[in-house]
Amino acid sequence: MSGPRIGVLALQGDTREHLAALREAGAEPVTVRRRSELEAVDALVIPGGESTTISHLLLELDLLEPLRARLADGMPAYGACAGMILLAGEILDAGVNGRAALPLGGIDMTVRRNAFGRQVDSFEGDVAFAGLDTPVRAVFIRAPWVERAGDGVEVLASAAGHGVAVRQGRVLATAFHPEMTGDRRVHQLFVDMVNGRG
Ligand code: GLN
Repeated sequence: MSGPRIGVLALQGDTREHLAALREAGAEPVTVRRRSELEAVDALVIPGGESTTISHLLLELDLLEPLRARLADGMPAYGACAGMILLAGEILDAGVNGRAALPLGGIDMTVRRNAFGRQVDSFEGDVAFAGLDTPVRAVFIRAPWVERAGDGVEVLASAAGHGVAVRQGRVLATAFHPEMTGDRRVHQLFVDMVNGRG
């Protein structure tokens, strides 16, 4: 049996690592750069990168509204770091006008961009993750955190007193980058969610 067809938004960011992680988790990953490709996938991963740049490219390529529409329609999605920012309903410190990160609204939450502060741009640590037996190694790179999570949002992991992994229905987001470690459990959770088993 073939796995679900999961798109990886390939405008900017570490696309390749997500494609590999999804393949290892039993999905059939494909890159998404245009509207016809977005319409053809069962689910979408939005990788880390720079949320303002990804937003700008989504606008340029006429993908912003189609993506919002698919999310509103219930398409499963997973966003890591910049992807978490974009999946929020509201973004704090979103950037300057005309070059701001634009919310796509997959999860009822408010996130703060670059929340961990200037001194600690990047760090890693082990975080407990709901449903997983042992902690995940979390790599944070100029990461956001969750400032407010709506009623329907499950906080799966926290760091520095804030949510760093959340889920609402079949939409998942992490402030960290599981694709950068060999641990495939977060991608496996997402593939199981897409399959209706997670
Ligand atoms: N700080 C970046 C942003 O605002 C996110 C960094 C990342 O994805 N590693 O989009």
